[in-house]
Amino acid sequence: MSRIEKLPPVVVNQIAAGEVIERPASVVKELVENALDAGATRVDVTLLRGGVELVRVVDNGRGIPPEELPLAVLSHATSKIRSAEDLERVQTLGFRGEALASIAAVSQLRLASRPAQQRQGAELSTTGSESEEVLRRKVRPWGGPPGTVVEVNHLFYNAPVRRKFLRSTQTETSHATEAVLRLALAHPQVHFTLRHGKRLIYDLPPQQQWLRRIEALFGRETAQRLIPIQGQDGPVRLSGYVGHPELNRPHTRWQYLFLNGRPVRDRSLTHALNEAYRGLLLTGRYPVCFLRLEMPPEMVDVNVHPTKLEVRFQDGSRVYSQLLGTLRRKFLETDLGTRLQVPSEQAAAPEPQPGPQSLQFVDWAKAQLARQHQAQGGNPAGPHAPPPTLTQQLGENPFVLPPGGYALPEEPAPSAVRSGTQETSQPQQAPWDPEPPSSPGAEAPGQAKASPAEAFPPQGTEPPRAMQVHNRYLVVEEPQGIVVIDQHALHERVLYEQLRERVAGGPLPTQRLLVPQVVELTPEELATVRENQALLAQLGFELEAFGGQAVAVQSHPALLPPGRLEEAFRELVHRLSQAPGTPGAEAVLDPLLHLLACKAAVKAGDPLSEAEIQALLRQRHLAQNTHHCPHGRPTALLLSREELDRQFLRT
Ligand code: ADP
Ligand code: MG
Repeated sequence: MSRIEKLPPVVVNQIAAGEVIERPASVVKELVENALDAGATRVDVTLLRGGVELVRVVDNGRGIPPEELPLAVLSHATSKIRSAEDLERVQTLGFRGEALASIAAVSQLRLASRPAQQRQGAELSTTGSESEEVLRRKVRPWGGPPGTVVEVNHLFYNAPVRRKFLRSTQTETSHATEAVLRLALAHPQVHFTLRHGKRLIYDLPPQQQWLRRIEALFGRETAQRLIPIQGQDGPVRLSGYVGHPELNRPHTRWQYLFLNGRPVRDRSLTHALNEAYRGLLLTGRYPVCFLRLEMPPEMVDVNVHPTKLEVRFQDGSRVYSQLLGTLRRKFLETDLGTRLQVPSEQAAAPEPQPGPQSLQFVDWAKAQLARQHQAQGGNPAGPHAPPPTLTQQLGENPFVLPPGGYALPEEPAPSAVRSGTQETSQPQQAPWDPEPPSSPGAEAPGQAKASPAEAFPPQGTEPPRAMQVHNRYLVVEEPQGIVVIDQHALHERVLYEQLRERVAGGPLPTQRLLVPQVVELTPEELATVRENQALLAQLGFELEAFGGQAVAVQSHPALLPPGRLEEAFRELVHRLSQAPGTPGAEAVLDPLLHLLACKAAVKAGDPLSEAEIQALLRQRHLAQNTHHCPHGRPTALLLSREELDRQFLRT
């Protein structure tokens, strides 16, 4: 065993840095917090290479006197607390006096500052772990404006292992963007800008109203679907916004909680939030919220986590009940029902188009045109034809695949069957028809326990007897027994298989929109779109910048009903922003195809005509290989004849 020795300051600081500085985003967080603690009303953040090469934060706060510059970068030196008792009533974001020292230990740091009342400022560059004496000798005069500039260059240049753990520029940028976003949300009265190189990601002018800042960051449509929340329990005040249930997300990232101006995560409060939404959201979907909790600092310990993201409440259960109670009361007095209650009717109706009345009129006019076209025997799905409405797509020809499309040639499209433009080749059989259809090769008693996928007979046989129940399941009579099929899951699987085959051969067929659909994005989403434009084009999305943070969708994958266009597009973008690795790679593409298939498929709750049921069943051989929908849910269940006989005590 070696002797016990005190570690040199370099190592101590690097270990400390390990706790708080994980990636460029952590640097951004610490520096912006310092600027806010200094009372800045304007904070400008610039990144290079996702912040790995440079994070620069410029503020107009109160500045650091030249003689204090060396102290600012020494560890355990702070202007924010003086004693242990002060820890009980911390009002600032920082107080540990360690951030700048930790950052300096793993980068090349430059600090320049000028207090407003002084004529000249001073600057100091360090690579960390230098003594106070050495640092004092390095202070130089600086002629900048009042405020502070901190530059962090070459993060982890001296910690190769840490550097290796950094991700792509895109990923690091998005983490850093999120760090700015959180603090910008918490401090709407402060003007923030964020740039990556020359590219402006955020320009957020000061706002008196919190909702305006939320709108600037998350788009108008989000802001319009927020419900204001207010509650007071003794000295604890809760305020902010929660999303209308229809504004749900497939993740919990849009749940923002601020405690006394500090972004925090708290398991128990997240639980309270989800509890309040119970029954209002499908599983796997999460509410959106922007909530502020204000309470006297002594009621909460913020010193339990190095990055102070987690906190400990003195009376956690009381805060829990306050959140849950406030939300429940609000939901009771708010009419949330209209779009939620009647899945069958609601889902079949065209989705209300956001936007001005005139656009709805255009949609209506286009739908009329399409119908006329169809009546004249034209092809409404032609490349330049007006797009069919959701009802047309779902109600009349959901399984007609795009021109040059995926449908197998021997299958007449159900709309053609119905409109009589093509000879009806399949006798239409009512599901309740007493005469069972002949089913060749049906006797397979040994296979009674066959999986539902195997139960699907090969294509070309007589249509099986089938009916839709609850507008969501298809009950099919098969030789082996009764197969219950989840209509959405099966359609999704079929579309996915077709898409996968199709995309291998080139871009997917697209449908051009006569009137481009404008989608407002957050700056982060816009960056993702820019970086993945080629991939989105391969999927059939042709896009153009539309000023500000909006893009105009010029064309979309033909199989996607226009009513679902925006939702699908947004989710694709979200998925892309999460995807690591090279765009276009199989690993990225596959989940996107799943998503497209899911969005394009009929939903549970969509009533299907008999022709549609048969069309869907005719394609189920495509679900042969795997009888699970891309999300892993089964597409079909088999209740075998054997099992039925056993249950009814016939054997
Ligand atoms: P802490 O924020 O926990 O005090 P830091 O290491 O982040 O520790 O900063 C050390 C000190 O440097 C702060 O207490 C503050 O006095 C000063 N400082 C850092 N950044 C700024 C800034 N942008 N404006 C004014 N003072 C700053
Ligand atoms: Mg700090």
